[in-house]
Amino acid sequence: MPELPEVETMVRGIRSHVEGRKIVHFGKCRCRCRPMAIRPAVSRIQRRVKGIEVLAVKRVAKRIVFSLSSGDCLVFEPRMTGLILLDDPPDRSHLRFEMRFSGRREFNSVWIWDRRGLGTLTLFTAREAEQKLGPTNLGPDALLMTTAQWGECCFRTARPIKVLLLDQKVVGGIGNLYASEILHVATIHPAVPANTLNPRQIKLLSEAVQLVLKEAIKYEGSTLGDGTYRNALNQSGRYQNVHRVYKREGEPCPTCGARSICRIVQAQRSTFYCANCQQNG
Ligand SMILES: [Zn+2]
Repeated sequence: MPELPEVETMVRGIRSHVEGRKIVHFGKCRCRCRPMAIRPAVSRIQRRVKGIEVLAVKRVAKRIVFSLSSGDCLVFEPRMTGLILLDDPPDRSHLRFEMRFSGRREFNSVWIWDRRGLGTLTLFTAREAEQKLGPTNLGPDALLMTTAQWGECCFRTARPIKVLLLDQKVVGGIGNLYASEILHVATIHPAVPANTLNPRQIKLLSEAVQLVLKEAIKYEGSTLGDGTYRNALNQSGRYQNVHRVYKREGEPCPTCGARSICRIVQAQRSTFYCANCQQNG
């Protein structure tokens, strides 16, 4: 958490307020908590971004990328509890960095906030960005994967399908929450070896990825019990209200109503599914 829908919501929330504006200030906020990883040092980032225009803000898998007119890319990876905000933060004590823009408009800064401080902020040169965010480190974006591409990546491995969905080198953007939701919609058992899926199941998987991620973006992502995830205006997402299986262990399956949702652990992460609807395990 945050996964593709949450990061996409963050990007959409800040884009029109940031693109085309010049950075007049980049600075570290006073925060007494465990520091967030930042590279290079703040002073070097300051020198490289001051007076530079933000050409575009985009999402790359679960990262927010600011493309600058200098060719550099400022990349924020929220990891567990990171947020990017235009407005009042959930609290001021976990504000990490501020980026302020020229001109006077409704919002003149974006803030990076991180409760646990596990997020990372990195300024890459164009070449470094190409390398770090390129195909050797990151698979294609989940929303751009075709059914044929799903077929190819599943065919190549006997790993359980749920574990494959989380591998960012195979496909970018899906995390633990949406993997369970996607497999429930696709009626595929999470432990089934990827290379045993038949063409009909590959098609169901490909369609479920699109359906679940787009639906979650429409609801502005999921704010779970800890309340951490917020959009750029510090509002909660609403997709948690329509989760089918995630953290619904013991509740009746929303599809069949016949069985309750169960939880298993795969690669140290919880998976939620319906043993009736997702039988091919
Ligand atoms: Zn069911």
